[in-house]
Amino acid sequence: MKNLNPEFCKSVKSARREAGLTQGQLATEVGCKQSALSMFEQGDGTKLNDEVIEKLAKKFNLSLSPSTPQPTTPQSLNPSIPQPLHRGFCPNPHCPTNKEYFVEEIRLFLPDREAADPVGGKYCAMCGELLERSCPNCGAPVHAGAICSLCGQPYISAL
Ligand SMILES: [Zn+2]
Ligand SMILES: [Zn+2]
Repeated sequence: MKNLNPEFCKSVKSARREAGLTQGQLATEVGCKQSALSMFEQGDGTKLNDEVIEKLAKKFNLSLSPSTPQPTTPQSLNPSIPQPLHRGFCPNPHCPTNKEYFVEEIRLFLPDREAADPVGGKYCAMCGELLERSCPNCGAPVHAGAICSLCGQPYISAL
């Protein structure tokens, strides 16, 4: 039999042993030569004709269907994990993306980074000012809010 799963040959061998049969006994039973069965059990599926192989399969309740190779799930080599956009803020206190507010009389600006930098660009979408991506005072990465949590300075200094 062509394209016979070599696993089937091994299965026949182990099944025969489990059944306590010699190669000669089994060969006689299914109607083939012992030498052919021996070679078949070594993995040479061409040594027995289909009829004999089917008898073997039936006798030992083995599946003839070739083991389908595991479909290799194509590992996407470079999964494009959407990186969270690291938006800059507009350092221009007059820019409409910066919301003026007061805390105890102190004038502060809350940057709307989404409005100033909707696409992770270089310039403010509203006023064209060069965007800042780090604290102008200490260089720490910009986070939400108006005041750098590292140095305590406001991102946008009121003029
Ligand atoms: Zn701006
Ligand atoms: Zn800072």
